[in-house]
Amino acid sequence: MSRIVQKYGGSSVADAESIKRVARKIARAKQRGDAVTVVISAMGDTTDELMDLAYQVSPQPQTRELDMLLTTGERQSAALLAMALNDLGVKARSYTGSQAGVITTERHGDARIVTITPGRIEKSLAQGNVTIVAGFQGVSQDTKDVTTLGRGASDTTAIALAAVLGAKYCEIYTDVDGVFTADPRIVPTAKRIPEITYEEMMEMAAAGTKVLHLRAVEYARREGIAVHVRSSFSDNPGTWVKGHADIAKGNQMEEAMITGIASDASEAKITVVGVPDEVGRAARTFDVMAAAEINIDMIVQNVSAVSTGRTDISFTLPMSDGQRAVQALNAVKDEIGFEELLYDDQIGKVSVIGIGMRTHPGVTAAFFDALAANDINIDMISTSEIRISVIVEAPKLATAVQAAHTTFGLDTNGEAVVYAGTGR
Ligand code: ADP
Ligand code: ASP
Ligand code: MG
Repeated sequence: MSRIVQKYGGSSVADAESIKRVARKIARAKQRGDAVTVVISAMGDTTDELMDLAYQVSPQPQTRELDMLLTTGERQSAALLAMALNDLGVKARSYTGSQAGVITTERHGDARIVTITPGRIEKSLAQGNVTIVAGFQGVSQDTKDVTTLGRGASDTTAIALAAVLGAKYCEIYTDVDGVFTADPRIVPTAKRIPEITYEEMMEMAAAGTKVLHLRAVEYARREGIAVHVRSSFSDNPGTWVKGHADIAKGNQMEEAMITGIASDASEAKITVVGVPDEVGRAARTFDVMAAAEINIDMIVQNVSAVSTGRTDISFTLPMSDGQRAVQALNAVKDEIGFEELLYDDQIGKVSVIGIGMRTHPGVTAAFFDALAANDINIDMISTSEIRISVIVEAPKLATAVQAAHTTFGLDTNGEAVVYAGTGR
């Protein structure tokens, strides 16, 4: 009997009927004789709705209470799924993250898994149960308070459990048939990638491809867990995320110059205008962001104007941290000596990703030409060895992704199916 871990995302369990459908899928896996652990997300857009509710009640909810609230989403779906399985004659028990032994740091909203003590899960599996764990949550080692692991982090719960339980592999069930060369919601002609290395998947996830949570991929790589991303709405094969050595020769992506195009509409841009061009001013600006525990993505500093001795610094950050960042910087306006702050959340990021670009010159030129041909202005640029990212105006994001996808020859004739979900 082998152990498998399956994770079902929110759009796969959006309503009562879907929960029963997923229960039938799990029952089939159980009937094949596997010991099944299931990680479940909150139903549909529940997490977003709970978040909206919190902000209707309070402009700045305490993060501890937000976590108490948000964790109820996964608790609901876990319990409902256990009921549906028991009705099918399949023994099942649900557990919260805390009950499942998911021990985390204390940082509410973005806690890290420190360890998993799977005593109760082991016992439940030994009793022959399908063991259902509420995703995206745990309990702080120090404060004993309930924590959440960041948006989209049920994937990370699943991989961490697969590692600690010694599972053969981890299946991530979602609302598309795997990882595609671009978001199928934006590019219907995107191609499913049958196999992808951890490294490329990490780069895609870091650039906004939310089909897999970045930390889940990092975890899988560290622990050597093979991950199968696939649809809960079909029996089609999906995408295997694996180490390079385990990828079939014909599928090795180095042969392809570009793996895919990622897009991210969740960032905002802050421009600190008129910063005195003196040693330490930029450092101080980012110290303030670090103290507020805000992750910065791209940074651009303009050449300073000789006449004024001042410069502008622009950077991008998660839109959800935008207001906090503006407040934190305004609080030190006089100390840093800048003139004003500009805030823009009408931006989108497009990234071209591919290990092959290391050895193929001209990728940047082709990408920028495609944007120019579509009359799209580039606002900021950042690159790594295997990625080129640009910021464009939000309304042009979809066109920019489509243009890049076509330019690098990634289009197929087929329609990439989006089975469910609101894309929220
Ligand atoms: P779940 O609720 O199952 O966790 P998510 O919404 O987190 O699902 O992730 C699935 C979504 O990721 C898809 O519906 C799709 O719109 C989006 N996505 C973005 N980029 C890609 C890509 N390259 N391949 C597949 N899906 C992608
Ligand atoms: N329900 C959580 C979210 O929406 C976690 C997850 O779905 O992975 O972010
Ligand atoms: Mg997800």
